[in-house]
Amino acid sequence: MATLDKIRKLRASRPQTGGGTRLRGIFHSWKDGDNIIRLVGEFLETKTHFIAPAPKRSERGLCQAVAFQGNEKMSPVINCLNWDVQKEEARQGGCPICRLHAIAQQVLNDDCTDDEKKLFEKLRRDTGPRTLLKWNIIDRDDPHVLSVDDGVERKVLGFKIASIGMEAWSDIEGIFDQMGFDISDVEEGLDICVNKGHNGTRVAYSAQAVIDKSTKPPSAKVTPLTEEERQLSQHDLKVICGKHVEAKRIIDALHEDYRELLEVNDSSEDDEPPVDDSGPDDEVSKPSAAKKAPVQPSADESPADDEEAEAAAEAAAEADDDGDGLLSGTVPIKKVKRTPVSEDAGSEKN
Ligand SMILES: [Zn+2]
Repeated sequence: MATLDKIRKLRASRPQTGGGTRLRGIFHSWKDGDNIIRLVGEFLETKTHFIAPAPKRSERGLCQAVAFQGNEKMSPVINCLNWDVQKEEARQGGCPICRLHAIAQQVLNDDCTDDEKKLFEKLRRDTGPRTLLKWNIIDRDDPHVLSVDDGVERKVLGFKIASIGMEAWSDIEGIFDQMGFDISDVEEGLDICVNKGHNGTRVAYSAQAVIDKSTKPPSAKVTPLTEEERQLSQHDLKVICGKHVEAKRIIDALHEDYRELLEVNDSSEDDEPPVDDSGPDDEVSKPSAAKKAPVQPSADESPADDEEAEAAAEAAAEADDDGDGLLSGTVPIKKVKRTPVSEDAGSEKN
């Protein structure tokens, strides 16, 4: 009886397939070579961390592999907790990854051995937040998404969500400047070509306007949206790309040494020496960041497989972004002097 009630409750709380169709395959991923896309509408600025291992590059990553498996799996790419996606501005969100970043920086500022230097430089690189612009696009190479209606899938024309890193963005920004108008405009916007290539050491992105060679002289190809394209509704980027994982979950998923590094540096506010011979010592597992985790209702339901696709796309983009994959050692646990203004000093609601 109780179970049946629960099932009914669960069913009622989930989006009804009959009530509206769901879309799948909405996350665009960059393929090698040229990608012709049409930007539409406003972008959303996000700050992300790539936290998963990258086995292909023998990278153990920031978090343990097990965190990305099973029903409760995390996305390999998470939003930085110190970034308010809704307002698109920095906030004090107690981001444990940024905290590690600050600790690594601090260790590097202090005296450290050559080996430590290598490890902490790597940690600093791995923990830096990465800016990704989310943008509704028409994927000219494959403008279709999957519409799922009562379990029946069919291909329909639809916007996809592209993740644009700062490297491609610097070129795209250049196109905006060069054209002198909004190239994502419904009417006078134009197609652009984003190239995913390799510069010898890592994956590299570049972008340029698509040129219409049939005009004299050849000019950027203006591509007003068709009537059909205008009818499409844009994805709500803030809702779809704005979720935060709780700090505690992130901390729990970290590799042991990183978690310890946080604990050692954050468990006590004062600078008392770590040697302590008085009394029981089982208070270590209280990372302050966990208490300050912004509590976000996880009510929003987006199709799990879409999240997965997003994660995969972004993870792929991120994972081959940096060629230095050979260093995978654990870091020594060092306690650094606490910075006067710590980046997780204040908690914030929301
Ligand atoms: Zn962060």
